[in-house]
Amino acid sequence: MGKHLVLAGGGHAHMVTLANMKQFVREGHRVTVIGPSPYHYYSGMGPGMLGGTYLPEEIRFSIKKQVEQNGGIFLLDKIRQVIPDTRQVELETGAVVDYDVISFNIGSYVPQDIVSRNNGDIYTVKPIEKLAEAKKRIHELLSKKQAVIDIIGGGPASAEIAGNIWQLGQYQGEQIPKIRIFSSREFMPRFSERVRLYTRKSLIKRGIAIHENSSVRKVETGKIVLSSGEVYEPDFIFLATGVKPSPIFRQSGLPVGPDGGLLVNRYLQSNAYPEIFGGGDCIFFEEAYLDKVGVYAVRENPVLYHNLFAALSGRPLKSFEPGGDYLLIFNMGGGTGVLQKKWVTLHGKIAFIVKDYIDRKFMKRFQ
Ligand SMILES: Cc1cc2nc3c(=O)[nH]c(=O)nc-3n(C[C@H](O)[C@H](O)[C@H](O)COP(=O)(O)OP(=O)(O)OC[C@H]3O[C@@H](n4cnc5c(N)ncnc54)[C@H](O)[C@@H]3O)c2cc1C
Repeated sequence: MGKHLVLAGGGHAHMVTLANMKQFVREGHRVTVIGPSPYHYYSGMGPGMLGGTYLPEEIRFSIKKQVEQNGGIFLLDKIRQVIPDTRQVELETGAVVDYDVISFNIGSYVPQDIVSRNNGDIYTVKPIEKLAEAKKRIHELLSKKQAVIDIIGGGPASAEIAGNIWQLGQYQGEQIPKIRIFSSREFMPRFSERVRLYTRKSLIKRGIAIHENSSVRKVETGKIVLSSGEVYEPDFIFLATGVKPSPIFRQSGLPVGPDGGLLVNRYLQSNAYPEIFGGGDCIFFEEAYLDKVGVYAVRENPVLYHNLFAALSGRPLKSFEPGGDYLLIFNMGGGTGVLQKKWVTLHGKIAFIVKDYIDRKFMKRFQ
């Protein structure tokens, strides 16, 4: 007898399952996908969209259309709570959906604890679709004056956002913004010395200021306050302070990892509730620590697809092997990038060309 599969979020780890949805339907199962937007945006190209290299439609997947074409149901909604004992999810509209098997790919968010007042012009680097809105607003500001843009956070998202805001100013022929990065420690601390050197050089030579050991205590529209008491008055603020998994698992009383992500075993499955699966930034994989990068979400795809099918039909599950080192390429704006794979580090135009090629190929495959 057919069962009900629910996909919560159509993120990067559900791509293969979504592309093969017809298989579930052919076997007599019902599939429902729940997401807050008809589209899912590919994060790897998000900074490029901000910088004007890509249009929003070039970096997004039409999840709703794909689901409906493949015989599933798409609910434009957001999961608010999971009720695992009755196998139900409650949505923000108040609707309740039953499931036999569910898979979560609802991503992560940037906490805003340091924001004390937001009357506008404070953006987070996620969700990616908001970068299109940020771009529009930066345009407006630059058409009037040499806007000051502060980016809080010293990791790769911050580097990519800074480089692409710079690009935005260049391409539009408007005023060049004054860009500052505030990093609580040194800049790009998790990366090799060469990656740190190349990313830093790339930004500094374009006039982007990097303030290290400058922890931001409080943010409000038009103002940031450092722990040292220093005050800065930017026109626009980006928060790139790192991401956390969606909070709904902890709020629903599901077993979670230390970061609040849904705790899953080697089958990407909850031990406590074997009909619950998950992938991408919203999980905590108990076998090994996984960085919050799209690479893992993408690698999880075939295993999630297999295991969801297996769970619906009582067949054996496959385990997920995270795999070794992954290729890292940062889009630094201006058609340049910084690439690292094992001991190889490249910077400049070639790095961006490689990233652009890989990203466009990924989009073509799943769009
Ligand atoms: C600026 C930036 C650049 C990045 N560049 C790269 C890169 O080049 N390479 C790389 O590997 N990683 C990159 N990352 C990391 C990458 O964004 C994440 O690891 C990746 O997005 C994780 O994919 P995901 O599908 O788990 O989550 P997400 O991409 O966040 O997708 C989650 C989906 O779930 C939906 N959703 C959210 N909440 C709910 C809910 N309650 N109910 C239902 N649906 C919900 C969302 O709308 C979204 O479609 C970058 C991150 C940032 C911020």
